[in-house]
Amino acid sequence: MAIITTKYSLGDLVYLIRWNRRQDWEPCGFCAAEGTITGANRKKKSCPECWGNKGKTTYHEMLWSIASMPDSGHLTIGQYGFTKSRRQEEERYMAEETGVGSGSLYYVSDLWPSLEEAQAECDRRNAELPDA
Ligand SMILES: [Zn+2]
Repeated sequence: MAIITTKYSLGDLVYLIRWNRRQDWEPCGFCAAEGTITGANRKKKSCPECWGNKGKTTYHEMLWSIASMPDSGHLTIGQYGFTKSRRQEEERYMAEETGVGSGSLYYVSDLWPSLEEAQAECDRRNAELPDA
């Protein structure tokens, strides 16, 4: 007989942290993010700086950050699973926002109960990166 204790229960709200490349959107200053330039004769042409894209995406180095979720920003635990063998223990979760039964699977080590704790864990992991 074994009693299994998981960190989170159904309905718990959690924040996911993710290893990814942070992106920033930089609006084009030449066309004021219009994508077009109006000439003296009032003809519009595609902006030569952003090629009509209205700006550009800047990619940064890989870092841990809090994953942005639609609406609320958090995930709601909808299913959990626990696997234990002699070699390892694994606690995984699925969230209502991203699909229960089939959807994204999250490891307990990447889920945190508050934004503050999620950010603290990101900072801790990022500080351990080489050349950070
Ligand atoms: Zn432009």
